[in-house]
Amino acid sequence: MASARLADLWDDAVANSLDEPGKLLYRSNLLGSDLRITNFGGGNTSAKVKATDPLTRQEVTVLWVKGSGGDIGSMKLDGFSTLYLDKLEALKGLYRGLTHEDEMVGYLPHCTFDLNPRAASIDTPLHAFVPKIHVDHVHPDAVIAIAASRNAEKLTQEIFGGEIGFLPWQRPGFDLGLKLSKLATENPHLTGVVLGGHGLFTWDDDAKACYQLTLRIIQKAADWLEAKASKPAFEGSKTTSLPAAERAAIATRLMPEIRGRIGKAQAKSGHFTDAPEVLEFVNSNALDKLAPLGTSCPDHFLRTKIRPLVIPFAGDIEATIASLDGLIEAYRADYAAYYARCKHADSPAMRDPNAVIYLVPGVGMLSFAADKATARIAAEFYVNAINVMRGASGVDTYVGLPEQEAFNIEYWLLEEAKLQRMPKPKGLAGRTALVTGGAGGIGRAIAARLMQEGANAVLADIDQASLDAAVADFGKLFGKDRVRGIAMDVTDEASVIAAFEETARSYGGIDIVVNNAGISSAAAVEDTTLELWNRNISILATGYFLVAREGYRLMKNEGNGGSLVFIASKNGVSASAGASAYCTAKAAEIHLARCMALEGAPHGIRVNVVNPDAVLRGSKIWQGEWRQQRAASNKIGEDDLEEFYRKRSLLQRSVYPEDIAEAVYFFASDLSAKSTGNFLNVDAGNVVSFTR
Ligand SMILES: [Zn+2]
Repeated sequence: MASARLADLWDDAVANSLDEPGKLLYRSNLLGSDLRITNFGGGNTSAKVKATDPLTRQEVTVLWVKGSGGDIGSMKLDGFSTLYLDKLEALKGLYRGLTHEDEMVGYLPHCTFDLNPRAASIDTPLHAFVPKIHVDHVHPDAVIAIAASRNAEKLTQEIFGGEIGFLPWQRPGFDLGLKLSKLATENPHLTGVVLGGHGLFTWDDDAKACYQLTLRIIQKAADWLEAKASKPAFEGSKTTSLPAAERAAIATRLMPEIRGRIGKAQAKSGHFTDAPEVLEFVNSNALDKLAPLGTSCPDHFLRTKIRPLVIPFAGDIEATIASLDGLIEAYRADYAAYYARCKHADSPAMRDPNAVIYLVPGVGMLSFAADKATARIAAEFYVNAINVMRGASGVDTYVGLPEQEAFNIEYWLLEEAKLQRMPKPKGLAGRTALVTGGAGGIGRAIAARLMQEGANAVLADIDQASLDAAVADFGKLFGKDRVRGIAMDVTDEASVIAAFEETARSYGGIDIVVNNAGISSAAAVEDTTLELWNRNISILATGYFLVAREGYRLMKNEGNGGSLVFIASKNGVSASAGASAYCTAKAAEIHLARCMALEGAPHGIRVNVVNPDAVLRGSKIWQGEWRQQRAASNKIGEDDLEEFYRKRSLLQRSVYPEDIAEAVYFFASDLSAKSTGNFLNVDAGNVVSFTR
């Protein structure tokens, strides 16, 4: 399989119009645009730039280096930290040796140039002390494959013929910066270094030359691996992939089962992939040998945990599900033992002992994390790890990072401090909500409210065009990972079942179901046709039943409770003339909610009702016929309806979609953890709908 070559994207016309920091940003974005050059969020770039000191007006040299966090592919100029190079040099005089290395991080803010608030990364000394103007540090799969081979140093020499040096694995920090500096200074012919078990450094005094050098070195490694690799990869295949539809069906069954077991303390979002490189690995003879070795590059295992959990799948899904308890228990015990073996006196407490990556031969890979984007990115990192293992085991023996080193990174006090600084997760983080009528006015307001609190939203609607627009809008607001649109007809059992299957496969399960899709109609009893009657019953009563039943089944199966919220109506509790079919169907919804609350309680599944009244703005129900009929029956103009309903309410206020969404959020969240079988009127007050 010959892969496409890395493209030189440097454009002089663009670059020559930029100043030095601009050129550095340009180079960084180009490097980060190709995942073969570096993984998401991995690597950093720097330039040593002349500038005028704001106080002394003297010329000084400033190190521009990617700061803590962010990704070189998408970063902006404010992603760089800026530090006085002479002050960084002066830190060498304060250095007390390897056991005190971490204290050097505390000095970095003292070197800040021009009050730049961007925190300097742990890799700063690695850039500062290399005696070249431009430095690139990237994590290419092809180079890590060499760096994670047993004979990494020899292979580096063989491939690059002395142009690229080698440093054995060492945790990045001040000390590695000194070693890198020494190697580069004593060997001026070197253009870069392979860091064992980690990645690549390259350098040059010219920005463009540095970029092209980085590309050339990575391409050389990739070409060499391709030419030398033993075939087939991973010692050939042991298992055959199931057909795509069956792989998806197995993932759909397995994901809620796993999520239910590992999400008791904190809800998790899942991700499924059966990309060709994943299947090649999970189906291979080498799986059982390589998977337990864990990943190599620190970036990889911080995202994927020390090792994945392999779920043997022998073609029987029920037997596989039955085996999950034992497999997950064994993984946790293994993780706890790793923690106990490696911990230091001052190590932070053990974190979540559950696996992040689950490998299923014949099926693919599942991943779970605190939110959907993190779960997806973890899967992408494991694909990086697979590429590394394929490369290394194809030319040599793959070696994972030594366990103690892995632990020292995972439970590094600096890493812990970073975690502690992160904002606390929002109330609905990791949870998934399905909202019917999700592309309409009230449905969108509900989804937006739940997403603001961290939930993933599945918008289910029959209107594909509105659905596409809503998904695009929410993607921009909350990130594409957190929203899905599913075309669904609430009256069609197969369509509803398929929507929940897709939800399970997209996010791992369900926590919140909002029954909101509706219609309205008005007719005197004698004029109510059977067709009109059936239409109300099928969409409002049967539709609510089908959606609630599937959501309930999935929640019960996961075993971590959940919340169903029905959008009913004031008319569900109070009779209204001229709308018998609608009122009867709405009453059926409310009673269904009470029956389900009764059955759901032992499983922690809560069912509550929100009764809106006269939410005209943004509502599809209030367009067309219903609007005309309501205006006619109240003997007013259509434009006067909102004012009419406002004046009719006790509080004399209009009710908006956002008001309904707030009530749904209350019932969906733990704020109402002790409420079930309730209804809440959001109608600005109507005595006829008072609870009785
Ligand atoms: Zn790195």
